[in-house]
Amino acid sequence: MNSLFGDEGMDLPSVDASQRPEQLAALAAEVAVCRRCAELAATRTQTVFGTGSPTARLMFVGEAPGAEEDRTGLPFVGRAGQLLTDMITKGMGLTRNEVYIANILKSRPPDNRNPLPEEIANCLPYLEHQIAIIRPEYLCLLGAVAAQALLATALAVGKLRKRWHRYLGIPAIVTYHPSYLLRNPAAKKDSWEDLQMLMQAMGLKPPGQRRTL
Ligand code: SF4
Repeated sequence: MNSLFGDEGMDLPSVDASQRPEQLAALAAEVAVCRRCAELAATRTQTVFGTGSPTARLMFVGEAPGAEEDRTGLPFVGRAGQLLTDMITKGMGLTRNEVYIANILKSRPPDNRNPLPEEIANCLPYLEHQIAIIRPEYLCLLGAVAAQALLATALAVGKLRKRWHRYLGIPAIVTYHPSYLLRNPAAKKDSWEDLQMLMQAMGLKPPGQRRTL
């Protein structure tokens, strides 16, 4: 499928906040029966659409559901999910309900293999539609799969972080995927720097100096 949008700098169409839950539910229902990726549709338990506020200022985009996500239907609920939750709550002073969390792929790749390019191309229009409905002010791209898919680059996360990008006209930062941070705890300080850059732009203060959101 082609992208819903041509140029990354264009403005997203306006969606009234009151209509967003209904529009997201309709899109989720469409995703739930999607069989564009034959292997994933045959092996998944269910699709994992996304979760959070339909009016979130900040949207996190990860890679794909894992075993726990496939079982529960919710994104980021395994060990990596707990770390992301800690980053959101303890690091940023927000709650999971205040942000929106989604993945590039809505179906789990078998054995957690990397998404194939054609699977990413198949699923990306759903994420774009989600973003268009929610209209977040900021995006946080978690890991190489999300960053490379949305920013159309082959650069590694280490080369993409610490600067602003744009996707569909929305300012975006890149940081390490929580799964990577679990394997490489030394990189947590880098991710904290990235979150601080994001918080500064959003006008958020660390917990203890409570933010206004
Ligand atoms: S990964 Fe996306 S495009 Fe592929 S089958 Fe699942 S919902 Fe459809």
